[in-house]
Amino acid sequence: MELTSWGRYPRIVASGEHFETREQLKRQMDRDGDLIAYGMGRSYGDSALNQRVVFSRRFNKILHFNPETGLVACESGVSLQELISVFLPQGWFLSVTPGTRLITVGGAIASDVHGKNHHVAGCFSTSVDSFELMLPGGDVVLCSREENERLFRATCGGMGLTGIILTAVIRLQKVKSAFIRETVKQCRNLEEIFNCFEKYETLPYSVAWIDCLESGEKMGRSVLMAGEHADTGSLDMDFNQPVSIPFDFPGFCLNRYSVKLFNRLYYHTRSSFVENRLVPLDPFFYPLDSIGHWNRIYGKGGFTQYQLVLPKTASYEGLKSILDRIAKQGLGSFLAVLKLCGPANDNDLSFPMQGYSLALDLKIEKRLFPFLNELDRIVIDYGGRLYLTKDVRMSKDVFRKGYPLWETFAELRETMGMKEKFNSLQSRRLEV
Ligand SMILES: Cc1cc2nc3c(=O)[nH]c(=O)nc-3n(C[C@H](O)[C@H](O)[C@H](O)COP(=O)(O)OP(=O)(O)OC[C@H]3O[C@@H](n4cnc5c(N)ncnc54)[C@H](O)[C@@H]3O)c2cc1C
Repeated sequence: MELTSWGRYPRIVASGEHFETREQLKRQMDRDGDLIAYGMGRSYGDSALNQRVVFSRRFNKILHFNPETGLVACESGVSLQELISVFLPQGWFLSVTPGTRLITVGGAIASDVHGKNHHVAGCFSTSVDSFELMLPGGDVVLCSREENERLFRATCGGMGLTGIILTAVIRLQKVKSAFIRETVKQCRNLEEIFNCFEKYETLPYSVAWIDCLESGEKMGRSVLMAGEHADTGSLDMDFNQPVSIPFDFPGFCLNRYSVKLFNRLYYHTRSSFVENRLVPLDPFFYPLDSIGHWNRIYGKGGFTQYQLVLPKTASYEGLKSILDRIAKQGLGSFLAVLKLCGPANDNDLSFPMQGYSLALDLKIEKRLFPFLNELDRIVIDYGGRLYLTKDVRMSKDVFRKGYPLWETFAELRETMGMKEKFNSLQSRRLEV
């Protein structure tokens, strides 16, 4: 079968098997050769790709819920959308959610995903009480901050390279409504958007769309969207029915001029300032989930997301330097997102660190990777790193410089036999 992930690059020929029970998975694991877990394939690059994969999506039962504590136990193939459908009507929502609900709980832990509330709530692992992990020999261990803590810290953010996450207990947050009180503010440049993030830091959710093609006075012009859970409005939520992109867009549709036009329209059609308007939770958190197959916009050749984070003190200068290169190069991105992150956690390979993160979706084309190599140097020089779940091309060197705990992680893989059993195209490229 042909296998790819959300970026549709690379596409490989692989063999894959679904598992519905742990016994089935154990039998699949007993066979010779290495493999990697595949959830809903919403990672952009090659972290879920290998010549052999095991699909977790059918391992998807919700096992238990405690309405006193908000703790839910489920199998790792349950999607965030399923959790929201079941628990939002009862007044519970995810403590941390990324910009899509179409991912599995296993994928959320393995990438230690973050959301618009990272500055106050940390990564997904903050809401994980414990999980069961199947190790290379088929043994299953319970991992939490109290038990097998070393495995807990390596697995959260460990990109499936420590074992297969079987079940997890995660903590939901209590909410009174399926609505958000949203504030939207246009910012004319990078300085203004930085000030705005700080001004709204007390609100739990914030994120900005940023125009990466402007330079000079307008460099970094953005639209900030911040919000908090409303205490009025019903708890019912209809997921927006996806409108689908029916075919691959021809490559010429996406160029410097079309992106510039899109950016102008996007910026100028937002109100310059709206405070506390009530918006449904679904489009606030998951605007792209209402467009099925939106990844086809980037054409047959696919795309990648370049997501970096820089330490706070270096963020302004570093981002100026990066935005300057992007504007000069004219590599347009329809989707460019800026986010203020809170402090880093102590997991081996979790991505966020205190500072600003920038994410750009970029069409795969010949000049792209040499250009991104240049950006990598700036990111590393300013003390930052790239997000593994979006990555398809970073070098071993850039990985090692960005993730100082890589060696501890690699040692664990070596000593526990994980390196023989769990591999992805990414782990081979990064030699981890
Ligand atoms: C529109 C969109 C918006 C996004 N927004 C954000 C965001 O705001 N913040 C953010 O952090 N991420 C974001 N992402 C990325 C996404 O949340 C992560 O890539 C997530 O890990 C995908 O989960 P998945 O179930 O699709 O896993 P896959 O893509 O299938 O796999 C991702 C990784 O998880 C591992 N894995 C999956 N299941 C298991 C398991 N059971 N046991 C062990 N390892 C496993 C895989 O081996 C792989 O390394 C976004 C992606 C999209 C498409």
